This record gives sequence, structure tokens and C-alpha cells, in this order.
Amino acid sequence: MNLRKPIIAGNWKMHLTLSEASDLSQGVVTGCAGMDDIEIILAPPYTALSTVAAKTEGSPIYLGAQSLYWEEAGAFTGEISPLMLKDIGCSHTIVSHSERRQLFGETDTIANRKVLASLKNGLRPILCVGESSAERDQQLTLDVVTRQVKEGLHDVSQDQMKNMVIAYEPIWAIGTGQTANPSDAQNVHQSIREQISELFGPDTSECVRILYGGSVKPDNIDDLMVEIDIDGALVGGASLKIEPFNQICGFERRT
Ligand code: PEP
Repeated sequence: MNLRKPIIAGNWKMHLTLSEASDLSQGVVTGCAGMDDIEIILAPPYTALSTVAAKTEGSPIYLGAQSLYWEEAGAFTGEISPLMLKDIGCSHTIVSHSERRQLFGETDTIANRKVLASLKNGLRPILCVGESSAERDQQLTLDVVTRQVKEGLHDVSQDQMKNMVIAYEPIWAIGTGQTANPSDAQNVHQSIREQISELFGPDTSECVRILYGGSVKPDNIDDLMVEIDIDGALVGGASLKIEPFNQICGFERRT
């Protein structure tokens, strides 16, 4: 039986002014009150972290950062350290989202540095992996994802693994309205869990939450969440409005 607590995480990307962020986080706090059987994470842009931290204070909603730098302090203009994120109230970091990989040159080595820096500072990383459309066409999905998981988790200890979250996000599904077929996504999630089992043992692998991301909406979340190895969702576009995000959080629970 799957005892993993589902996670629904909203990645707001480079959207929302402070007043919009305030309204949205308030709407989620109100609309999701009492949903104690899931973990909800909001990941606003850095500029809105303290606003959202204030709104979610006293609620069970977690605060996530969309990225981080791996050093704790220093001459790294424009970057944000794990210490700063911890200080502002973050509990989670999104690591190497495909937009970071594609637009900002993040490699598996960088992903691994960010994972290790997050864990060292008591932040729970959500490591994003997923294949491009071309890689999918060449049937390279499992090769790509296996490499990203292996390299992203290099030097992570078995003990630290319980604080890791993996997000499988096929790039062709992000922001396109083209969601992965739930059983195809399940196959990839199952393969990731088997890989974690080989690397860290079966007990650890059974505890690690693996999220799906890519055009998750209120009308497809139920079908995704039925799959045994899909433990939640990383949501982009549909996390920017109160109603759809709260509806996603209210997905039909497994019995
Ligand atoms: C994402 O950016 O992680 C994402 C899944 O976006 P969307 O839900 O808009 O496809």
C-alpha cells in the first residue's frame, strides 16, 4: 500500500506582483484549509517570498524557492544562497527545472551542487528531470531521466534521500496543454523508483515522493493521481489562479 503523502506544488515562475502574490496565496490558504492529507508548496519568485511567507504563516502551506545558488555567501552577483532562503522561511527548493536547464545552461553537475547545498542547509530539493520532444521521439526518455536522476543525486546519502522529492516533467508537456498519458507517466515514475531502490535500497525508495509536471489541470489531475507511483504534481500555469490550483489540491483521494 502506498503511504506517501501527496504533494501539490505551484511554480509561479516569473509571474505576479506583490499584491497579486498576496491575493493568490491568501486564496490558497483559505481554499485549502483543512487539507491535511496533502502537502501544498507555493514557489513564488524571489521578490514575493516574504509576502507569501507572511500570508502562509500559521497555515500548513510550505514555501519553496524556484532555484538557488550553491554557495552560502560571497561575490556572486544576482544569486540567492540557501542560507538566505532558509532565513526567509523556505522549506523547499526547485532544482534545475527544465527552463533552467534549457535557458540558463544548468547541467547535471549544477543540479547536483544545488541538491547538495539545499540538503546541507535543511531545504528539501525538488529535483526536476524529463526528456525533450526530440529525445522522446528517439525513445530516449528512460536514458535521459536515468542519467539526470543518477547525476543529480550523486553523493546524496541514504539518510538525506528521505528529504528529496523528484519531479518528472517531460519538457514537451510543460506549458503546452499536452499532458503525458497517465500510464506512460507511471512507467517513467516506476522506473525512477526502481532506480532509487537500486541506489538507496527499497525502503528509501518507497518513501520518496515522485511528482508529475506538465500541463496539470483540474480536469486531468484525478487520472494522474490514480497511478501508484505518481505522488503529486508540480504545477505551472494552473497554479497562477486561485480556483484551478485549489481544485487541483482537491483531487479525488485514493481509497
Ligand atoms: C512547470 O513549469 O513545472 C510546469 C509543469 O508548467 P505547466 O503546468 O504550465 O505545464
